[in-house]
Amino acid sequence: MIIGIIGGGQLGMMMTEPAHKLGHKIIGLDPTNDCPLSFVADDMIIAQYDDVEAFENLVDKCDVITYEFENVNLDLVEKYITLIPQKSKGLKMSKDRLVEKKYARSLGIDTVGFKKIEKIKDLYYPAIVKTTTGGYDGKGQFKLSSKSDIDHIRLNDKYSYIIEELIEFDYEISVVCTRDCFGNVITYPISKNYHRNGILHTSEIFNDIDPIIQSKAKEYTQRLVTDLDYVGTFAVEYFVVNNKVIFNEFAPRPHNSGHYTIEGATVSQFTNHIHAITGQKVIESTLVGPTIMINVLGQDTAYLKRSHQSASYVHLYHKSVSKIDRKMGHITIVSDKIGNAKIIKNHIIKE
Ligand code: ADP
Ligand code: MG
Repeated sequence: MIIGIIGGGQLGMMMTEPAHKLGHKIIGLDPTNDCPLSFVADDMIIAQYDDVEAFENLVDKCDVITYEFENVNLDLVEKYITLIPQKSKGLKMSKDRLVEKKYARSLGIDTVGFKKIEKIKDLYYPAIVKTTTGGYDGKGQFKLSSKSDIDHIRLNDKYSYIIEELIEFDYEISVVCTRDCFGNVITYPISKNYHRNGILHTSEIFNDIDPIIQSKAKEYTQRLVTDLDYVGTFAVEYFVVNNKVIFNEFAPRPHNSGHYTIEGATVSQFTNHIHAITGQKVIESTLVGPTIMINVLGQDTAYLKRSHQSASYVHLYHKSVSKIDRKMGHITIVSDKIGNAKIIKNHIIKE
């Protein structure tokens, strides 16, 4: 089949390898001609994501369309919905944090306390303020830890904001799953995620999470993806606190915390995404061994040099300009023992 990918980032790039192995061709749509996907795609349409003519050109050329990020034009997705297995409901909900959290609650899923900010009196601490739309990797977020933080916060009239209670979680997890068009949902081994400045730094997948937490998180995820009638790879982030699973957000696409599945699981989130969107059944995926994924941001490229001295897998995203907090690549460590995986991680990140 010919698969169109809206968005030319690393997720599209990593979908392409299994797509080619499965005999498909890839056409990407992205405004940047040297985006990560452009290095591996069979063809590219260089245009803005909301360029109607370019979108329709992609539709004409492809048998199926997928999007690899949330910044897609919803109206266009709805217009060509029959070609887009991921559909529009997940996209619509995930574009706005307020809508997304209300939706999770409507399905009986616990969330942190949250409220739309309407007036200055809505601010309190400890809390976290987030733009309702457009935020990612911790962008558009402000922590309120004191009265002085409230006095100094500057909210921009152009945005709307949500305030959430700041919770002291025990740990963060994500459940990545893939749902096929027959309604089957498979979940990958659950990762524990560690963030720095709101950006994912490492994911650890050790199969060491309390089985009750695991089944609750998997059940919530299945409830969401099924209600959204979504087809493809999908991810949900949760906080775990006092043995409770608390929804944070979801992503209607493959997810950074699932990159480990390329080497650390028997079937990757990208392979199953391609299976699902091309009308095939999803395949169960199990952990190969204790696995750690390390993100390489612009300021962390020294990790790459050190990873060459260890048996780890390095993925580079072909980004021409390295910037602070920009995801340049990732490293995956697959080991026989948790302790050995941690030794390699500590060597790479020098801790
Ligand atoms: P993004 O879309 O930028 O990933 P998130 O809501 O996932 O936004 O926030 C990024 C990170 O900030 C989370 O993974 C978590 O570490 C921290 N964080 C976000 N919301 C809260 C909260 N209510 N309480 C505690 N930590 C939070
Ligand atoms: Mg997040």
